[in-house]
Amino acid sequence: MKALVYHGPGSKTWQDVPEPRVLRPTDAIVRIDTTTICGTDLHILKGDVPAVQDGRVLGHEGVGTVTEVGVGVQGVAVGDHVIVSCITACGTCAYCRRGLYSHCLADEGASGIGWILGHLIDGTQAELVRVPFADSSLYRVPDGVDDPSAVMLSDILPTGYEIGVRNGHVTPGDVVAVVGAGPVGLSAMMTASLDGPSRVIALDRDPNRLAQAPQFGATDVVDAGDPHWFDQVMALTDGLGVDVAIEAVGVPDTFTMCTRIVRPGGHVANIGVHGRSVELALQDLWIKDVTLTTGLVSTSTTPMLLRLVEQHRLAAGAFATHTFALDAIGEAYEAFGHAAETKALKVVLRR
Ligand code: NAD
Ligand code: ZN
Ligand code: ZN
Repeated sequence: MKALVYHGPGSKTWQDVPEPRVLRPTDAIVRIDTTTICGTDLHILKGDVPAVQDGRVLGHEGVGTVTEVGVGVQGVAVGDHVIVSCITACGTCAYCRRGLYSHCLADEGASGIGWILGHLIDGTQAELVRVPFADSSLYRVPDGVDDPSAVMLSDILPTGYEIGVRNGHVTPGDVVAVVGAGPVGLSAMMTASLDGPSRVIALDRDPNRLAQAPQFGATDVVDAGDPHWFDQVMALTDGLGVDVAIEAVGVPDTFTMCTRIVRPGGHVANIGVHGRSVELALQDLWIKDVTLTTGLVSTSTTPMLLRLVEQHRLAAGAFATHTFALDAIGEAYEAFGHAAETKALKVVLRR
C-alpha cells in the first residue's frame, strides 16, 4: 500500500510500505476513505517533535471503513464506517477510567500519552491504518454525516471544545476571546456557541483568518498586529476585559495577550502547543482571581459533538476548504503549509 512516510526534518515521501496487520486482539484495520493534515504534522516536519522517527507514517485524523478486526474487538465490525480519533484509548487504565484518554497508560509507546497515531506508531495518511484499542478509539459515523464533516471530529472540534471552551468554563452571557483563528481557534469559536456567550472576539494577525472567523461564530474581530489591539478588546468589554481568553497559537506573545485581557475572576484556557517557556506575570495575576488551564485533548466529547454535527447544530464541513486525491498529498501539504496565500483551513484528502 501507499503511505506518507516521514524521513527526518523537511523530508517526507508518498511511497510503498507493508500493509498493516492485526497485531493484538483489540486492533482493527481501517481503510482510509478521508484524511486531513494538522498543524502538528507541520511541526513534526520542522523537526519539533523528536519522538517521531524516520520511517513513521504520518497523520492522526481520518475517516474510513473497517476491513479487519482482532478477536477481542466487540464494538466495531468489518464494513463499519468510522472516525479514527487522534487519541488512542484503552478504556480501562486509571486515566481512561477518569475520561482522561489523553494520558492513556496502555499506549504502545508506553509514554502515558494517548496521541500515538502518526507519532509513536504509523498513522492515517495512508491507504490503511492499524488502530489499537479499536472499541474505544473508533466512532461509528451516523448516516447523513459526510466524511469531510466527520473528519473534523478526529481532532480539531474536540480540541477546541474540551481544551478551550470547557476548560475555560464558558457560561451563558460570557465574553470570550480566542487568540489565533486557525482551525483549532475557529473550532473553539464554533463550539463556544453551545454555552451561550454574549460575545466571541477573534484575534489573529492574518486578515484572511479574521475575515473567515464570523462564519465560525465570532461576533467581533480584532487585528492582533494592530498596536491598539488591547484598547479595542477593552472597548468591546466595557473596559473590564474578557471572561474567558482562549490561547490557540502556541507562542509566548499570544499566551501573554490572554493573561492581559482576562478580567478578574476569569479563565485563561491554553490550547497551543508551546515549544518555549513563557513568562507568567504572577505579580499581576495573583490578585485577579484568574484560573489558568492547560491540556491535551482527550476526545471524550466526540460522541456528543458528533450528535450535534448530525443534527446540523455544528457546521463541521465548513472547515474543509480544499480537497485533494489521497495520492496528491504532496500538493495538499503545499496548500496547507501556505495557508496565508491559499486561504486553506483544513485540506481534505479522499481515497
Ligand atoms: P494554525 O497554525 O493553523 O493557526 C494559528 C493561527 O494563529 C494562525 O491563523 C496565525 O495567523 C495565528 N497567529 C500566529 N501568530 C500570532 C500572533 N502573534 N498573534 C495572533 N495570531 C497569531 O494552528 P491550528 O491548527 O489552529 O492549531 C493551533 C494550536 O493548537 C497549535 O499550537 C497546535 O499545535 C495546537 N493544538 C493543540 C492541541 C491540544 O490538545 N492542546 C490539539 C491540536 C492542536
Ligand atoms: Zn492534530
Ligand atoms: Zn487507557
